[in-house]
Amino acid sequence: MGPTIILDKSTFQSLSFEEIVCLHNYYFVVVTPVLLIEILGDLTKPKQNESETIKKVKLLSLKIQHKNSCLTANHRTLIIESLLGNKIEMKRRPIILHSKSAISKDGNRGVICDETPEEKALHNWREGNFTEVEKNISLFWRASTTKKDKFENLKKQAKNNFHLLPKIKDLKTLYNIIEKVIGIPDNQTEILKVFISSLQLDHESIQKIFYRWEQNNSQTINEFAPYAYYCLKIQSSFLQGVIFDKFGTKSTNDVDLTYLFYLPFCNIFSSEDKFHKKIINFCLEKDQSFISGTDLKKDLNNLISEENELQTKRKKIPHNPNTYTYKFWEKHLGWSPDKEKFIAKMEDEEGKRVDQIIQAIKESKLLQANKDIKDTDIKFVQQKFKIMPDEFCFCGSGKKFKNCCSLKISEKIKHKKFEKERV
Ligand SMILES: [Zn+2]
Repeated sequence: MGPTIILDKSTFQSLSFEEIVCLHNYYFVVVTPVLLIEILGDLTKPKQNESETIKKVKLLSLKIQHKNSCLTANHRTLIIESLLGNKIEMKRRPIILHSKSAISKDGNRGVICDETPEEKALHNWREGNFTEVEKNISLFWRASTTKKDKFENLKKQAKNNFHLLPKIKDLKTLYNIIEKVIGIPDNQTEILKVFISSLQLDHESIQKIFYRWEQNNSQTINEFAPYAYYCLKIQSSFLQGVIFDKFGTKSTNDVDLTYLFYLPFCNIFSSEDKFHKKIINFCLEKDQSFISGTDLKKDLNNLISEENELQTKRKKIPHNPNTYTYKFWEKHLGWSPDKEKFIAKMEDEEGKRVDQIIQAIKESKLLQANKDIKDTDIKFVQQKFKIMPDEFCFCGSGKKFKNCCSLKISEKIKHKKFEKERV
């Protein structure tokens, strides 16, 4: 357990394996598709030979753990879903699409999430296997992020079109003005059109969205599609920031911007990137936090030495009120030391859950698909995943699977696909 956190690549890369294991014990890590594409991008780094880059990407992929972690759906898909009228919850939790409802042997109702193509790809990367398509994606991505003057032209064009906006002093003013401008009631249809054209959607989706817009009684885009509106606000602020020289025209800013589209799905965001540090305060809500990669690394090392000092297999709870992690638990989980008993119970249950996973693997427990299920009836979420011998074990021990829980599972079914459960 722990508050939800998103790491950008700068933070992710700076953490050692030991720190990563520690992170997953105190936080729930929300993995973003943009992190995966950035990892894949390393595959075609210039001036390095292929075996070197393969090794590097393999190691990075192994740092994405199973315990306390989840890959959230792609932001572009979520924007489209949002515009089509599907509710995208912005409750500091990752979004998983396409889950199937199910009913377990003991009659509880829940949902099963199949492995997504991204998760499947990740297994292959962890084994050091990359398809030709992936190599091409990597090349394409690298080309687009190293393109010089990517924003220079945009800036020139925009300066002619946006001369009506007042000269903007600082980022805070910029952000406030953007909010006002994209909220002007008379301009809503026009703004929606511009935003949708930037998404480069197929004709059918565009028709569906505008049909809904016309049928809907929403006065504003914010009411019509809250998540899409959030992204529109971020994107517009960024573009205006570039125009007014508040941000550089570095092409990687575009990649860094993408992380911000995932902020509604986490409590905490961590980055070491200059651009993020500059813009983040205007993007986060009051119930969210930011921590630099350096501070997070220091904090995790404090936790590690605290654990070593206590030398027990004790519960993973932050004890030192001066650490960021303690403060985050306080702020985002309402944590206080008198809740220790409650946490102890949770930890017990988590231990039981690991046993249940092992049991489920042995029995290959099957769930019946069931279409009619209400959200309030959901008692469990089962996520299918595959684990390779060299990956971190799902129990969070920090050991390789082959040296940990794998030993408790019979040889025959060891490498079969199986499931983890989360309540
Ligand atoms: Zn284990």
